[in-house]
Amino acid sequence: MSEFDLIARYFVRPAHPKNRATLGIGDDCALLTPHAGMQLAISSDMLVEGRHFFAGADPYQLGHKSLAVNLSDLAAMGAEPVAFSLALSLPGADEAWLEQFSQGLFALADAHDCELIGGDTTKGPLNICITIYGQIPIGAALRRDAAQAGDDIWVSGTLGDARLALGALYQEYPLDADVLAAAAPRLHAPQPRIALGLALRGIAHAALDVSDGLIGDLGHILKKSDVGATLNVDALPAGPMLQGQALDLQRRFTLAGGDDYELCFTAPVSRRNAVLGAALAADTPVTRIGSIEAASGLRLLDGDGQPLDMHITSFDHFA
Ligand code: ADP
Ligand code: MG
Repeated sequence: MSEFDLIARYFVRPAHPKNRATLGIGDDCALLTPHAGMQLAISSDMLVEGRHFFAGADPYQLGHKSLAVNLSDLAAMGAEPVAFSLALSLPGADEAWLEQFSQGLFALADAHDCELIGGDTTKGPLNICITIYGQIPIGAALRRDAAQAGDDIWVSGTLGDARLALGALYQEYPLDADVLAAAAPRLHAPQPRIALGLALRGIAHAALDVSDGLIGDLGHILKKSDVGATLNVDALPAGPMLQGQALDLQRRFTLAGGDDYELCFTAPVSRRNAVLGAALAADTPVTRIGSIEAASGLRLLDGDGQPLDMHITSFDHFA
């Protein structure tokens, strides 16, 4: 199979009425025409075998996850998905693998009306890089630098089940097979919070998606917004499987698990009902977990309001 056969067979699809690219796959560039009054939101994420996923990972889930982590970045800005490009490095043209990978990729793409408009295909170690394009009304993006002292801090969904599954797969600890089976989809097939991101436009001040662990990711908001915060550690929503584990593990994995792909956002206290309304409209639970303060630094409190001294850091590829 030639490079062009491969692209034509697995990645070129019939024109769809919802497609928004002016020109899609097949020329030197794709052409996108943003709607009037809209800004483009652009983000890239690369998944490297042995680094972001295990060798031999299920190709359907890998297709899903490659796009999910990119969609999650759009969600975090309050952007509506439009299109994406796919740069693939493949050890070979494995047809069974490509079939499953493209199915997982397109199932999620179609769920969000996000069109594949181009990419690049080369031979090499398995490596998947997606660049995604979304649109946002000019000035409406939920930026990391927009948190204000007095804001509530919220998080969507639950935290820590992806990390719980990862630790079991790395044999850090034993985990019952049924617990691992229930937690593993959070690691392998995250669900980007697009509907919530859109619903929070005009309500939330700052937002980001939690990919490297809540503490570190929230730290980015604090730094960019030049504020501090207090977090109620025991208010953090632990994943259903993590809830069955020891308190110390619950605290560590909700605070600094990673791979959660939930949204962490801040909003004025006066907008609490609006936040809850947005969560309901987006069919996505949210939990209030702390508050933004003028004094810099991050303070952790337990369920009794007592300071917690935990030495926890988020994931860093080069640390
Ligand atoms: P060029 O050499 O002009 O950069 P290529 O030969 O690499 O173009 O690709 C031909 C066309 O196929 C381009 O439109 C490109 O965007 C598209 N393409 C290449 N690889 C992929 C892929 N993995 N998924 C989707 N489109 C792809
Ligand atoms: Mg060219």
